Amino acid sequence: MESALTARDRVGVQDFVLLENHTSEAAFIENLRKRFKENLIYTYIGSVLVSVNPYKDLEIYTKNHMERYRGVNFYEVSPHLYAVSDNSYRSMRTERKDQCILISGESGAGKTEASKKILQYYAVTCPASEHVQTIKDRLLQSNPVLEAFGNAKTLRNDNSSRFGKYMDIQFDFKGAPVGGHIINYLLEKSRVVHQNHGERNFHIFYQLIEGGEEDLLRRLGLERNPQQYQYLVKGNCPKVSSINDRSDWKVVRKALTVIGFSEDEVEELLNIIASVLHLGNVQYGGEDSGNACITSDTQIKYLARLLGVNGTVLTEALTHKKIIAKGEELMSPLNLEQASSARDALSKAVYGRTFTWLVNKINASLAYTDDSYKNWSVIGLLDIYGFEVFQNNSFEQFCINYCNEKLQQLFIELTLKSEQEEYEAEGITWEPVQYFNNKIICDLVEEKFKGIISILDEECLRPGDASDITFLEKLEDTVGGHPHFVTHKLADGKTRKVMGRDEFRLLHYAGEVNYNVNGFLDKNNDLLFRNLKEVMCMSENKILNQCFDREELTDKKRPDTAATQFKASLAKLMEILMSKEPSYIRCIKPNDSKQAGRFDEVLIRHQVKYLGLMENLRVRRAGFAYRRRYEVFLQRYKSLCPDTWPNWRGKLADGVATLVKHLGYKPEEYKLGRSKIFIRFPKTLFATEDALETR
Ligand code: ADP
Ligand code: MG
Repeated sequence: MESALTARDRVGVQDFVLLENHTSEAAFIENLRKRFKENLIYTYIGSVLVSVNPYKDLEIYTKNHMERYRGVNFYEVSPHLYAVSDNSYRSMRTERKDQCILISGESGAGKTEASKKILQYYAVTCPASEHVQTIKDRLLQSNPVLEAFGNAKTLRNDNSSRFGKYMDIQFDFKGAPVGGHIINYLLEKSRVVHQNHGERNFHIFYQLIEGGEEDLLRRLGLERNPQQYQYLVKGNCPKVSSINDRSDWKVVRKALTVIGFSEDEVEELLNIIASVLHLGNVQYGGEDSGNACITSDTQIKYLARLLGVNGTVLTEALTHKKIIAKGEELMSPLNLEQASSARDALSKAVYGRTFTWLVNKINASLAYTDDSYKNWSVIGLLDIYGFEVFQNNSFEQFCINYCNEKLQQLFIELTLKSEQEEYEAEGITWEPVQYFNNKIICDLVEEKFKGIISILDEECLRPGDASDITFLEKLEDTVGGHPHFVTHKLADGKTRKVMGRDEFRLLHYAGEVNYNVNGFLDKNNDLLFRNLKEVMCMSENKILNQCFDREELTDKKRPDTAATQFKASLAKLMEILMSKEPSYIRCIKPNDSKQAGRFDEVLIRHQVKYLGLMENLRVRRAGFAYRRRYEVFLQRYKSLCPDTWPNWRGKLADGVATLVKHLGYKPEEYKLGRSKIFIRFPKTLFATEDALETR
C-alpha cells in the first residue's frame, strides 16, 4: 500500500487547510493541479468545496457513489458534491435548520451542472411516495424547460445560463421533497435581438425550428431554417456540435407536459416564440421621408394572428410614438432607427416577460399544496453568474459584479460568524481575524441618494440633456473621491493610459474592472413605448394577457428602473440566504477551450483570486488548521496507543488527552474544546497520519 506521504505528494491534500504553506498561492494552485491530473476535481477549504470542471464524464456520479456518501462523516470520504449535499440534508433533518448551497464561478465553470447533480442526488436518495415522485419529476423537468428559454450558446459555454437562479427544495417532516420554488434574476434580454459572433440566441428558437412538427411550423408561419430569421443570424452560428436541437426539442416538449402545461398553453407559448422571430423580420422602409414605414405586411399578418392583436394598430404602434401634449394624444412618426429600436424593445419585453411567466407557471406546478402539515424545511440552491471581466464591460457586468460583491460580503460575514460561533461553543478563545470588508464597495454601488445606482436613476429620470456622459460626469462629482472609484479624468498617468474617456473603474474586492457607460441609461430605463404596451394589453394570447397588465397603462408612477429592481431583488436574496445555513461550492474553469485535461495556470490563478479563495483559506486557517469531534479522532488514531486501548472506558475528552500526550503533541500545537480537538498546524496531523501508515 502507498504510504500517506507519497500519496500526498501525488494527489495533494484533500483539504487546503492542510497545506503546509497556506498563504502561498503557488502552493494552492499546485495542489489543485496535482488533483486535477488525477481526476480528483473536488477539494475542500474547510467546509467549502472547490470544484474544477473536468470537461469529460467522470464515473463519479453513479447511484453507487450516491449511496457511498449517504450519512457518512463529511471528512472521512474523499471530497464530493454529494458529501456537501448530504451534509446539508442531514443538518436540515437533525437541526431543523433551513439550508442553502451557494454555487459560484465564472461562465463555464460547472455551476449549473453542479446544481443539477445536487438535485439529482436528492431525487434519488430521499424517500418517496406517489405524490413525491410527481414533485421529483417536476423538479427535474423544470431544468430542461428553463434551460431552453434561458440558456444559450456563448463563446465560453455551449449551454450558458443567461439568468441567475435560486431554487428552494421543500422537504416534509419525513425528509421527502414535496415542493419547490424558483426565483430568477436578470435575464439577458438583449440576446433576443442581438448575438455576438460565434454565439446564439436562446436555445428554444433553434429547437422549435429544427424539431417542431411540419404542421406546427406551418401554423406558426415558420420555415425550417434559422438563417431566415434576423434575430438568429447575427452570430452566424446556427449549429453547435455539442447540441442536438431536434432531440432537445423532444425533451422540452415532454418536460412541459410533465410540469403540467396544457396543450393550449404550449400552443400559446409557441405562438409567442414564433412572434418574436416574425418581429425580428419586420423590415422598415421610408428613407426618403425620414419616417419609418413597414414595407411588407407578411410579418404583420402572422403577428396579428399569433399575438391576437389588430394588425393595423400594431403597424401604427411599430412606426409611431404616442405623445400627450396639452392633454391631447398625438401620434408622432418614428424615424428608421427609432422604429427598429422600438421593435427590438417590444421583442425583448415580450420575451423577458414570457420567461418570468414561465417561471411562475413552473412554481405553480411545484407549489406545495397540502397544508395539513406546513412544517417543511428547505434547501436552497443558488446558481448565479460569477464575477465577469470582459474586454468591454457594460451595464450587465456592472449588475453581475455588484451581485458578487454582495455575495462575497455575505460569505465573509457568515464564515467569520460560524468560525467564531464554533470557537465559542467549544470554549476556545476567539482571536479576531483581520479581513477586507467589502461593504465599502457595496455602499458605493447601492447607497441611497449617493450610490452609483441612485445617480444612474437620477439621470434616467431627468428630462432634458441627460446622457451616458452626463451620468459619468455626475458620478465624478458625487463619488469621485471614493477610494474604489476612478475615471479617466481622476486617474493618475499610468491608469489613465488604460482607461477610455467614457469609462469608470471600480476597484472590486476581486480586482479592477472598467465599465463603459455607453448604453447605461437605455438599459436601465428599459422603456417600451406606451402604444406598444397598449397593443400588448389588448392581446388575446392568454399568456401575454397575464404579462401585460392594463394597470400599467393607468399607473402614473414610472416602473422601477432595471438597476433598482435588481438591487431590490438582491436585497431579498440576501435576506433569504441569511436565514439559512450556507454551504459553498466554488467552481473553476480549467481552460478557455472546453478541453479535458488542460490546466491553464494563468486562467486558474485569476479565478482563485476572483473567488476570494486565498482570503477564504486565510480566515479558515487563522486559528486552527484542523478540528475533529473527539469520537472521530479517537476512532481513527487510538490504535497508535495500544497500551491504553482497546480497554479504555473513560470520557472521550480524557481519552483524547491521553492519546495526544502519548503522541507527544506540544501544548501550543493543539487545544481541547468541549467536543472537539483543534490542531493548529497541518504538520502535527501529518506526523500522526504517517505514524498510522508506518505502524
Ligand atoms: P456554468 O453553469 O458554470 O456556466 P455549466 O455547468 O453549464 O457551466 O458547465 C459547462 C459545461 O462543462 C457543461 O456543459 C459540461 O459539458 C461541462 N461540465 C461541467 N461540469 C462538469 C462535470 N462535473 N463533469 C463533466 N463535465 C462537466
Ligand atoms: Mg450555468
